[in-house]
Amino acid sequence: MSTFLELGLKEPITRALTDLGYEKPTVIQEKAIPQIISSIDDLKAFAQTGTGKTAAFSLPILQLADETKNNTQAIILSPTRELAVQIGNNIQEFSKYIPEIKVATVYGGANIEEQIRKLKKGAQIVVGTPGRTVDLIKRKALKLGNVEWLVLDEADEMLNMGFKDELDKVLEATPETKQTLLFSATFPREVEAIAKNYMTTPVEITSGEKNSGSKNVKHIYYLVSERTRYPALKRIADINPDIYGIIFCRTRRETQEIASKLIADGYNADALHGDLSQAQRDTVMEKFRQKNIQMLVATDVAARGLDVNNLTHVINHKLPDQIENYTHRSGRTGRAGNQGISIALINKKEKGKITPIERKLKQKFEQAMIPTGDEVCQKQILHLIDRVKNIEVNENEIEGFLPNIYEKLAGLNREELIQRFVSLEFNTFLSYYENAQDLNDLSKDTSGKKGKASSENMTRFFINLGRKDKLNPARLIGLINDQNITEALDIGAIDILDTFSFFEVDKDYEQATLEAFEANSPEFSGRGVNIEITKKEKSTGGGRRRGRRPFKDGGNRRGGNSDRRGKRNNNPSAGFGRKRRKR
Ligand code: AMP
Repeated sequence: MSTFLELGLKEPITRALTDLGYEKPTVIQEKAIPQIISSIDDLKAFAQTGTGKTAAFSLPILQLADETKNNTQAIILSPTRELAVQIGNNIQEFSKYIPEIKVATVYGGANIEEQIRKLKKGAQIVVGTPGRTVDLIKRKALKLGNVEWLVLDEADEMLNMGFKDELDKVLEATPETKQTLLFSATFPREVEAIAKNYMTTPVEITSGEKNSGSKNVKHIYYLVSERTRYPALKRIADINPDIYGIIFCRTRRETQEIASKLIADGYNADALHGDLSQAQRDTVMEKFRQKNIQMLVATDVAARGLDVNNLTHVINHKLPDQIENYTHRSGRTGRAGNQGISIALINKKEKGKITPIERKLKQKFEQAMIPTGDEVCQKQILHLIDRVKNIEVNENEIEGFLPNIYEKLAGLNREELIQRFVSLEFNTFLSYYENAQDLNDLSKDTSGKKGKASSENMTRFFINLGRKDKLNPARLIGLINDQNITEALDIGAIDILDTFSFFEVDKDYEQATLEAFEANSPEFSGRGVNIEITKKEKSTGGGRRRGRRPFKDGGNRRGGNSDRRGKRNNNPSAGFGRKRRKR
């Protein structure tokens, strides 16, 4: 393994790298840096996020850029504002001992005039998102006529996000003589097309196997039904008390739904999606970086550019439509030499998606069983005991209180003390899981089937159509599915009568069902369709009642400060984590 100096970088750069704690180049840096410094050939680099690719393209550019000239010499395109800002900041850090180098970062959603002023002052290196870059070219504020390096970072993401036209425009604004450096974690057809059309016999380098996943990531799937998907997610969170991860969802609505449920159930979670303002997104991301949020529920797009290296888990609440996105999602964990776990919650129908992903990753998934209530309790208790064992005791601070405490507890022996302490912390938790069902059995149900027994998890709807309207169960299921309420909605019992009917859907989607029918105003056999929630007798079935949920506090399960809704933390089991440990 070489040093940065041996790769051909000058002393001001290596000094900055030492300051940053970069001791040795990563694989991609070792390959890319000497290649870019010594050759003007275009470069195609297969590199996942977290491999050190930013330094791999930035350092040779800093080495070669002419700091005595003010014109734009390098343009770096990145898919998101967050990633662009991160790259801009990194380059500033790398060039701190070359003060003449100026970096301008330009992105949408921010004041364009300010960015224009910055560009006017001169910046040898410009980092930008595709849309804003094109805007600035059109306004003649950004001149790329003398550009020597064009970097397309996360090219696959840029194309996924629909930036093909913008990439074409930027490419057209740059001279033929430039060197194009394309970095991508995956190489689907669209990326290969860019390489083919805009690059001349590029040199290929890779930081690992082409299109394969990180070997530091273990891939696990849990078989769920639509009814057990969310409870399974909670059990996974409960069996991993130190979880620090991203839960990926496919839509903004799903993201908000899951985050809201987790927050309401007392988990330390929040949502990140495109319906939030930029300021809200920044706040959520910062909280997550600071580990004030343990589980970030996010869409693929929103989570891009979030630079966090030590995620323990990535959870696919639903698998993405495109296999490439699974690679991206799972690549968020197992970074910078850490081990990570990527979990997929899949129903029977989705099982077929696993093999193509395995092929792409060149890695096998393991099927895991959803933890039982007993397993969760065991884990949580041992976790608490470990924390008790490892807690740092600050004798000075508690000294004054101890005599009174000792006196009060004088009549209790060691065993009694332990029993009381565990009961205090766990009674609510244990009673929540006391009669917990085996979700693995429930998950064997195929969702969406007619005639499923009515349960407390379902809401019964009245619909103003019946046999006279030629309604039958299959047509009713079709009508419900046409409303696009959610992916694979759980439909329960159906009763078709002469002029009206009843159907059940997953209680979690009762509001969404009402809203969808209202918004779509569907017609059936020439009639407008109306639905209403019917009053249902309270179920006496074996399930748990809401009031007994363990972390039902609307606040931070570990006592952190993410309670945006301002509810009081009355969570009886929160005591053991009031001061959340910094991991
Ligand atoms: P990137 O793939 O560029 O997003 O980098 C991933 C993370 O690794 C970032 O936090 C970098 O600061 C860090 N990093 C990159 N190169 C090195 C290196 N040679 N030594 C230590 N850390 C590095």
